[in-house]
Amino acid sequence: MLDDKLKSRLNFCTALPSLPAVAVKIIELANDPDADIGAACQYISLDPVLSAKLLKTANAPLYKSRRVATNIRQAVSILGTHSVIVIALSFTLANSLMKNPGSNNRSVFSNDIFWRRSITSALACRALGEKLSLSFLDDLFLAGLIQEIGILAFSAIVPEEYNRIYSSISDHDLLLKTEREIFGSGHDELGYALLQKWHIPDYIALSCIASHSQPGPKDLGPTLQSCVAVSRYLADYLLFPQDNEKLASLTKAARDWLGIDDNDTLVDVIKLMETGLKSVEELFDIKIHNSSEAADIMATAKELLMMHNLARAKELEEKSQRDGLTGAHNRIYFDETLRREFHLSAQYNLPLTIAIIDLDHFKQVNDTHGHLAGDSLLVTVVSTIYEQIRQDDTLSRYGGEEFALILPGTTLAASRNLISRLKDAIAAIEFKLDDHYTIHITASIGVASNNEGTPSFKAPLDMVKAADSALYAAKHAGRNRIIEWNP
Ligand code: GH3
Ligand code: MG
Ligand code: MG
Repeated sequence: MLDDKLKSRLNFCTALPSLPAVAVKIIELANDPDADIGAACQYISLDPVLSAKLLKTANAPLYKSRRVATNIRQAVSILGTHSVIVIALSFTLANSLMKNPGSNNRSVFSNDIFWRRSITSALACRALGEKLSLSFLDDLFLAGLIQEIGILAFSAIVPEEYNRIYSSISDHDLLLKTEREIFGSGHDELGYALLQKWHIPDYIALSCIASHSQPGPKDLGPTLQSCVAVSRYLADYLLFPQDNEKLASLTKAARDWLGIDDNDTLVDVIKLMETGLKSVEELFDIKIHNSSEAADIMATAKELLMMHNLARAKELEEKSQRDGLTGAHNRIYFDETLRREFHLSAQYNLPLTIAIIDLDHFKQVNDTHGHLAGDSLLVTVVSTIYEQIRQDDTLSRYGGEEFALILPGTTLAASRNLISRLKDAIAAIEFKLDDHYTIHITASIGVASNNEGTPSFKAPLDMVKAADSALYAAKHAGRNRIIEWNP
């Protein structure tokens, strides 16, 4: 609900421009479910500028029409009555507010940036709808265009106070929160009230509010509201494509509101926006970017999105290969890596050594100090092992307190130094529980090498079994030692 004080200020505000007669007529048509093509043509023809703009729009690549409209009636038949009314409304609203921003507005903020952002949002909103195969594309355009109209309203009714806030806050969500704290309502509610005052159809006006509230899980999927919400982030990103935060906010919004998880979809949306950019700039008599810049900016935006995509895919892949507690590779990764290294070793007759490391009496650590202490000890052991091994070596968590090491290109003799250092480093860990208690731990290690003497192993699993039986022997021989498998 709109704060009462704001509501009365809105109703008696003289700084807000009043709508021109043609806009009022078009709004009437938009509210009339039986509005017919004749009435629409009649009102639009009253305004020669509007007529010319609509003709141009109908012939623009945005509408992919094969017919060429030479008069309003043909334009209406290409676009459809509803679309014509909605486009005319978008144009008259934006145009009259842009050209006549009200008496106080200039001091409040750059009108130019506001409209570049709004029009880019409108284009983005329409392109999202098109990519997601929605049918109400012109409604999406209008909703995207006027979603932030509450900011304009604020700047007209409380110019000085609003100026201070608006110019010091660049984050949109923070702006909304601050408005609520200071004025009792945000620009979402104020915008809705203004659109109601102008009798803009409710399903459009409501999207102002809905697109500003946090999406719930059930909101996932393309609706007018979710496209409007994401369009805001898309516009912000295209106006500032080098800003990493804008990129992150955009991909998060697309995921949260529309369930879009891949940036390829967003890149397609930007491509659709490129198609429409020129005709939209003409329709509103505004330059979103310099034409020399525009192509560069779009290209940069697409490129950064693709790079972000790759980085994210890599991050996800990397995460899926790791053990959650210790950060060592997981069992699946071990199996794959060993299979690959084993085949290379067999094919090119290269040495390959693996070691299985099992911590001694680990159960006692848990029993004495608790499972959590055991967990952090495991983390410490893993980082100790990482300090000793080389980049090409793979450390995996093979089981609970059991780790496996793959040493490619390493002979048994060459592995001795490293593995013995490893055993000593683990034994040297002083794991401080608190000021009074230090835990010590040792490890038993079983080692097996391929292509060392004959015969070599037949399969990777045979190598693991060999290392395992060497480990078993190490346990039996008294633990804290290394045993090499010997056929
Ligand atoms: P040894 O290997 O020397 O024969 O004795 P052990 O006590 O280490 O051997 P055992 O295999 O019997 O027990 C392993 C213990 O490791 C059992 C389990 O409680 C503990 N363990 C396994 N995974 C984890 C884990 O993720 N966190 C903690 N805290 N403990 C674990
Ligand atoms: Mg053990
Ligand atoms: Mg064990």
